[in-house]
Amino acid sequence: MTHTRNTPASEKTSLAPDPARLDPRAARAWTERMSVRALEGGEYAVESASGATYLVSLPERRCSCPDHAIRGEHCKHRRRVALEITAGRVPPPGSRVAGCVACGRTTFAGEDRRLPLCERCALDPDERVRDRETGDLLVVAATRDRRADEVEIEAADCTVAAYPTNREYDPGEPVIEATYPGGERRYAYPLSRLDPRVGVGRVRSVGTMGSRPSAGQTTLVDGRNGLERAG
Ligand SMILES: [Zn+2]
Ligand SMILES: [Zn+2]
Repeated sequence: MTHTRNTPASEKTSLAPDPARLDPRAARAWTERMSVRALEGGEYAVESASGATYLVSLPERRCSCPDHAIRGEHCKHRRRVALEITAGRVPPPGSRVAGCVACGRTTFAGEDRRLPLCERCALDPDERVRDRETGDLLVVAATRDRRADEVEIEAADCTVAAYPTNREYDPGEPVIEATYPGGERRYAYPLSRLDPRVGVGRVRSVGTMGSRPSAGQTTLVDGRNGLERAG
């Protein structure tokens, strides 16, 4: 329940800029009906209110419109692209619109990312997670851009997807590398095997795990799949 008395109020103001006080090109960037489509390499196609489409390149700070080409101005199209990126309506340079491979939601992902994940499904480095198969607490080390059926577990001579305790998971999921708290050795898991909803009170330090077997043994005894750190 929200206690409104305890929530500090922001300054009483209008969020939209007052067009009368803006540079005329900035005002048109805000108020004209335009649509923006992201292309590759930081380029955007902007369809103006008149129906003409212009090409904006953010890295090269140019636009194909006459205002820019003839007068060299910071035109309304470039300004509009910046506004749409800030508003999250189009991806920033280097990113593209993609479907999250885990949940299907539309998200922005790096242009070269094969297996895009939305913010809700991605696991961040150092995030604590629980192994759904063993109940063990783990710390995320990295998200790989490769599918579980593409990554080999050398110690087991099979892929992450083919590993016995992983067969219920989608072989197309990205592989997550994780360590035990305070540990160095990385193990590989299909994304959804790791549960990010770890209660803080349940976190164990490595000091309480002294009885766990050595890494070499754990690889095969209890379903943890060993993956030596690459490089
Ligand atoms: Zn322009
Ligand atoms: Zn997702």
